[in-house]
Amino acid sequence: MLRASTRRCRVSVWHWFLNFFGINNLAGYGYGFWSGIGSDIGEFALLGAIIAIYRKHNCHVDKCWRISRHPVEGTPWVVCRRHHPTINTKAPTAQQVVDDHRRAHAT
Ligand SMILES: [Zn+2]
Repeated sequence: MLRASTRRCRVSVWHWFLNFFGINNLAGYGYGFWSGIGSDIGEFALLGAIIAIYRKHNCHVDKCWRISRHPVEGTPWVVCRRHHPTINTKAPTAQQVVDDHRRAHAT
């Protein structure tokens, strides 16, 4: 025989379950569903859209997580700056910038 507090807890959990999934009829047909788990459908759709956009625009190199913006000439691949064969992947140093500037004005 269950104690009264245990029975109350089980009833409360069951009521929460029914309410969360919208199975019980709260205020009309479908109200419980759209107030419960049905309201999360839009959030799952947004999450799916974000994942789809990321998968479309990330680097084509296997397991690279970066956003791809540089098409590789002569291939269908679009890769990130790090994996592009001709783009310098390192940022210039201050001395390189000064040297390039002087070289540009010297000519
Ligand atoms: Zn990459």
